[in-house]
Amino acid sequence: MRIVLDRQRCVGSGNCVLSAPAMFDQSDADGQVVPRAPLPPSGVPDEARVAVELCPSGALSLADD
Ligand code: SF4
Repeated sequence: MRIVLDRQRCVGSGNCVLSAPAMFDQSDADGQVVPRAPLPPSGVPDEARVAVELCPSGALSLADD
């Protein structure tokens, strides 16, 4: 599994930043999610799974490798 980020769908709620602060930040310009580093090509840490579950817009999702 891997994380998929569709920034176009982000509504800037910040749930992902609270759930997985090591992975996600928000843009100062528009509040949209910004990955702190390239998202891993495979493997989803537990905190990232929580972030996916709590994302209200579907901007974060899981996909098969
Ligand atoms: S939780 Fe979803 S909608 Fe909220 S900032 Fe993160 S990616 Fe955007």
